[in-house]
Amino acid sequence: MFTKVLLVTLISTVAFAYGGDVFSGYKVYRMTPENEAQVQVLRALEELGGVSFWTGPNPPHRSSDVMIPPHLQGDIIEGIKKHGIAVNEYISNVQTLIDNEGPLDTKIVKGTRYDFQSYLDVDEVYAWLDEQAALHPDIATVVSIGKSFEGRDLKVLKISKSGETKPAIWLDANIHAREWITGAVSLYVIDQLLNSDNAEIKSWTDDYDWYVLPVHNPDGLAYSKLAGNRMWRKTRSDTDSILNCKGADANRNWGFEWFTGGSSSNPCSDTYAGPSAFSEPEAKLTSEFLESISDRLAFFLSLHSYSQLILIPYGVDIEFPQHEVYMDIGLDTKDAIAQKYRTEFTPGNIVDLLYVASGGSMDWAKGVLNVPLTFTFELRDTGAYGFILPPSLIIPSSEEFMDGLAVMINALRAGIPESDAARKQTKPAIIKPQILHKNKPTVDFRGKFFSKH
Ligand SMILES: [Zn+2]
Repeated sequence: MFTKVLLVTLISTVAFAYGGDVFSGYKVYRMTPENEAQVQVLRALEELGGVSFWTGPNPPHRSSDVMIPPHLQGDIIEGIKKHGIAVNEYISNVQTLIDNEGPLDTKIVKGTRYDFQSYLDVDEVYAWLDEQAALHPDIATVVSIGKSFEGRDLKVLKISKSGETKPAIWLDANIHAREWITGAVSLYVIDQLLNSDNAEIKSWTDDYDWYVLPVHNPDGLAYSKLAGNRMWRKTRSDTDSILNCKGADANRNWGFEWFTGGSSSNPCSDTYAGPSAFSEPEAKLTSEFLESISDRLAFFLSLHSYSQLILIPYGVDIEFPQHEVYMDIGLDTKDAIAQKYRTEFTPGNIVDLLYVASGGSMDWAKGVLNVPLTFTFELRDTGAYGFILPPSLIIPSSEEFMDGLAVMINALRAGIPESDAARKQTKPAIIKPQILHKNKPTVDFRGKFFSKH
């Protein structure tokens, strides 16, 4: 629903930004190991250059989606089958999905509105945020909370009718570059918060101050958008890799239980934890901003894709005293999301649903700041398009997310009960950045398995 005129439009130009069909003939296979030995085969596959795990490697009986370039497909699939692993071709040509994703090179022209039918580049998102703030100067402000590794602003849209005195809700997206749907959904939320006539949504900004970071990883998004690699995930920082591998996984870089499983010390890995906690400015600056509003911060919400999950702390194997409270909210949220389009989400703990993934932002928000309510979403889909969700699904994805968000905000209003154990916890000290131990294994197997969301 777009009740007011927005001042941004997109004029499409020819999409040539990738400089060719980079992913032509690349296929995504769904592989399902049945035992530990087969999982180890997938782990070996992960170490192979040119192969990209979109999800997994996951434990037995749970599928992993693996993208394989054309020249490796024959031998690898034969090898996988020899080991008795069930394998299905899931996406027959990645480039076709990318080509159908719509224009990559767009221009913003003032005069009409963003219609949520395309994915915006970083500059376009920022122009749109600026326009929104200009249209709502009494309540909306764009603030830069600092610069990315390559010098791009990290722009947060603040919405406050209270002069920043109300409980605060945080929403971030696109910490992983290729998860384009997340940023689009976050913009939809902003649009609704500022422009909807719906009484319930209006009450959300009456009663809460909002802080939305639509592009957590602007360097990565710019790289995946225009510079040639749609499937890029990490930041774009320099590393000491002799192979010139760049970037760290900004969602394995936060200073709570950092590098304690499910992340890698190999700079070429998609889950490289970085040389130390908060080595990546994108994670560090965001954590500092969150600390600055921590007295009011009531709800921390982070968006990822894909798999349709509602994730609750922790991503490491430590007890979460509010598990039952969060699960109840997650189950109600799942029901609300399913109403409009019957989209099935699954709530649960990160380790239970995806295995160990240490150094994530939600774990830090809960473990260090002890924010009352913290959730991470894995948005659509379940693998038919994977990360390359068609832009025609931005609005349905956003609408169902808003239905889920309403449940969570109602839970917040009702008050989040703390368990006795949680009440006894004192606020943990912020973990100082630590240098990665040189004699740690190249890949940390303590977590054994992890997912790439
Ligand atoms: Zn992600």
